[in-house]
Amino acid sequence: MSLPEIQTRIAAAEAASNRPLGAVELIAVSKVQPPERVEAVLRTGHTVFGENRVQEAQAKWPTWKESFPDSKLHLLGPLQSNKVRVAMELFDVLHSLDRPKLAGALARLVQEMGSCPEIFIQVNTGEEPQKAGVMPQEVDAFVAECRGMDLPIAGLMCIPPVEEEPALHFALLAKMAERNGLSGLSMGMSADFETAIRLGATHVRVGSAIFGDRLKPA
Ligand SMILES: *Cc1c(COP(=O)(O)O)cnc(C)c1O
Repeated sequence: MSLPEIQTRIAAAEAASNRPLGAVELIAVSKVQPPERVEAVLRTGHTVFGENRVQEAQAKWPTWKESFPDSKLHLLGPLQSNKVRVAMELFDVLHSLDRPKLAGALARLVQEMGSCPEIFIQVNTGEEPQKAGVMPQEVDAFVAECRGMDLPIAGLMCIPPVEEEPALHFALLAKMAERNGLSGLSMGMSADFETAIRLGATHVRVGSAIFGDRLKPA
């Protein structure tokens, strides 16, 4: 477990880009990890975790939240409209808003429940057919559409194509966020979080570099 090492590297990257210490939130991505590894990180006092699937998180986190009530949970993976209520009860932050139907379902529940998770719009910066996310040319209109539903948007999120230079995608995402007046940037994973911080990431999502290799692909 190398959480302290990752925290040190984040602090160094913040300093190197003249950003205040603590400007970047570290999301420890615990998907598919053995429980004892996650519990070891919980016991260090780290409170911010990410999961990819609603169902998997539902099975694991209610117990951990009882023992560690300060934990904050981020949903990083796809969200089906019929799971929005469950997701809003379990997660504090959603990173994968990517379509009007989902925005509508969220907006209705925000009104009904009187509380709102922090929401990021996922952008398919590489325009990959198999990947979720709003296409880059549709981002401005979609942000406006969400705001029109009284759905507050915290920022943008991306997962760059595996084969491409991530910095290009991070810079593109930062530019789209800026022109839409959005301050949140969820970008950077184990292999490239320092690059993401240099380009303005406010949230980095780090899994295997903290917990070790995942047992099966997710
Ligand atoms: C799994 C996952 C991560 C973490 O990936 P690592 O390479 O293990 O750091 C980050 N973001 C999303 C959306 C993921 O699904």
